Amino acid sequence: MKQGKLLYAGKAKSVFRTDKKDTLIVEFRDDITAFDGGKKDTLKNKGSYNAGVSAFFFEYLEKYGVKTHFLRMLDERRMAVRTLSMIPLEVIVRNVAAGSIVRNYPFKEGTKLDPPVIVIDFKDDSRHDPMLNDDLIVALKLATPAELVKIKKIALEINRLLVTLLAKQGILLVDFKIEFGRQGKTICLGDEISMDSMRLWDKKTKESLDKDVYRFNKGDVMATYNLVAQRITKKEKAARPAAAKKKPAAKKKESGSKKPVVKSKAKKR
Ligand code: C5P
Repeated sequence: MKQGKLLYAGKAKSVFRTDKKDTLIVEFRDDITAFDGGKKDTLKNKGSYNAGVSAFFFEYLEKYGVKTHFLRMLDERRMAVRTLSMIPLEVIVRNVAAGSIVRNYPFKEGTKLDPPVIVIDFKDDSRHDPMLNDDLIVALKLATPAELVKIKKIALEINRLLVTLLAKQGILLVDFKIEFGRQGKTICLGDEISMDSMRLWDKKTKESLDKDVYRFNKGDVMATYNLVAQRITKKEKAARPAAAKKKPAAKKKESGSKKPVVKSKAKKR
């Protein structure tokens, strides 16, 4: 497959045509922005971390029946995807109050939101992505009422799957933003799911593991992205948990059936 003309360049990704009409290439660049583009930088390898995490999530979600645009990785930062007709909505799912919901409403940061709160913004930089409601979405003909029901249902299912997956890595999924598109009549998950579009906290320390590190100068952004990408995709790190190093006491037979708990289970997510 050949990469063709640039179709669209966003703040951190570029989308290219290919020689196949139904396939596009998304390139995750090393650019990072925050506050409506008010803060900008280029951070080496950032694109490949986000691409890797996005691909991992897309494959995981597909396995559980969520339709996504993901086809395959072409290299560390380029992804082949299905061509979708994108719906200009930013669908945000919130499990814990943080970010704009705390600034704009009387929520205390860290308050659990149960059931999760879905907020839908109009993806329009010139208007600073204003929040929509169902009536506005339908009046603006951005989605039909039936599509809206579907979008919310898929968003909650994605949330359920991601919360479960991340909890196993000791990560709290505070909130995230996703975007959808149409392939014929089918609503598919598009865009990306990465540290740029999620708010992730370490379950124990509540430390930020996402773009908030960049937004609010909380530390070394790339070190965080690298570690969290490894943690999410479980790429093997040199260090093993201390317990695994313990010598199996030669004396007592435990129940004979003690298995090396390690991979098989973890792999299934
Ligand atoms: O800023 P706010 O709290 O509304 O963001 C909620 C979630 O949506 C965060 O995880 C943020 O990273 C993500 N988001 C995004 N792109 C936007 C707006 C929000 O990825 N344009």
